[in-house]
Amino acid sequence: MEKTKIDEMKEKLFYNPKHASTIISESEVEVADGFCEGYKEFLDNGKTEREAAAEIIALAKANGFSEFIPGEKYTAGEKVYYNNRNKSVILCVIGKRSIIDGVKIAAAHIDSPRVDLKPNPLYEDCDMALFKTHYYGGIKKYQWTAIPLSLHGAVVLKDGSTINVCVGEAEDDPKFVITDLLPHLGGEQNKRTLREGIRGEELNVLVGSRPFKNEECAEAVKLNILSILYEKYGFTEADFLSAEFEAVPAFKACDIGFDRSMIGSYGHDDRVCAYPAVMAALDAENPDYTIMSVLTDKEETGSDGNTGLNSSYMAYFINYLAAMEGYDGYEVIRKSECLSADVTAAFDPTFPDVMERRNSAFINKGVAVMKYTGSGGKGGTSDASAEFMGKVRAMLDNAGVVWQVGELGKVDAGGGGTVAKYVANLDIDVVDIGVPVLSMHAPFETVSKLDVYMAYKAFSEFFKQ
Ligand code: MN
Ligand code: MN
Repeated sequence: MEKTKIDEMKEKLFYNPKHASTIISESEVEVADGFCEGYKEFLDNGKTEREAAAEIIALAKANGFSEFIPGEKYTAGEKVYYNNRNKSVILCVIGKRSIIDGVKIAAAHIDSPRVDLKPNPLYEDCDMALFKTHYYGGIKKYQWTAIPLSLHGAVVLKDGSTINVCVGEAEDDPKFVITDLLPHLGGEQNKRTLREGIRGEELNVLVGSRPFKNEECAEAVKLNILSILYEKYGFTEADFLSAEFEAVPAFKACDIGFDRSMIGSYGHDDRVCAYPAVMAALDAENPDYTIMSVLTDKEETGSDGNTGLNSSYMAYFINYLAAMEGYDGYEVIRKSECLSADVTAAFDPTFPDVMERRNSAFINKGVAVMKYTGSGGKGGTSDASAEFMGKVRAMLDNAGVVWQVGELGKVDAGGGGTVAKYVANLDIDVVDIGVPVLSMHAPFETVSKLDVYMAYKAFSEFFKQ
């Protein structure tokens, strides 16, 4: 179609993000779809931070990474991984430049909102065995009832050995469920606010209903469950005290839509950025700068704790790299740059009221860059500088990455944070960049395949700088 002068001017002067499929080639769309097949597998294999960490380490080992040994000297092109307590992982490829030029970091998190078991979880009531829970991260509690759940746990015995438990993921495995009230008797419940619709202490997981040896005695159903656990795994009720069990949705990742353009799954936040960051690190051959993908834990509860990015483990790791060349860690850290790889809310036409269209991320418009997150008057955010935004923007455009800007909803509608501020507080230039998600933090979240691929392309390009 012939363009009028006005159209030409608009093209030149307006900022107008487009659907990724209208910008990239048909063959690149195919590449993106192919990339997402690996991502779906990753989602199903790593539903907890422990499983994701193990999966990442397995992938790293298969791609020539070896375990990082503090004090060891590494040379350009060498690939190492650092395992922080089986819950967070750093993948690192040593660059050709001196470490004093700084490192390039992509930081994503591998923990997701879920329902944890309490330390003393098992009880019996009305011939039903149940687990008491304590939810982890920001969830809408009512969404976690009446869906099939699986249980993933690590039980540490007094002799120091660990028993890994995973029930509900295999096709013929039993599943678990948090019950909800039938609508017929929901009159009073309906008067509660949505937030209170299901209360924390009502998130009880049903795990059994038959008595031990079909005998009539007190707590026979509870005894039966403990007997099954003891027989199968060798642990007792007291061993729950030193265990971590997580209840997560039992369903698998799948394509969404007649056109298969999207993926529905538990845990996109933030595996949808973690997987691209891992793949970018695995594919980084002889990078110029030293590159790191940090796959961290505890983001959903505020990044506190020794496996979260509010701890010093990443800085300590960089200290070791600096020491290899005789530098102090801070000299390297202050010259480093980071892409904080985390998801943002995708504009949902069903709920437009909380979003501001001009500054929202849309699915299929590429990976979203968020200059700041936080809430209210930019509280609790690092707010990337215009200089760093300029650098990232040029990098993305030059590499043909489809991207957009995004803000997490209207100014006073709410808010959220990422690891960016903890990275920034170390004196590192950082900006948030990630995949827009529909139904974020729900047991089943939705993303666009093209956006997932664009995240990979962005991190790969960052590592090539
Ligand atoms: Mn996140
Ligand atoms: Mn989150």
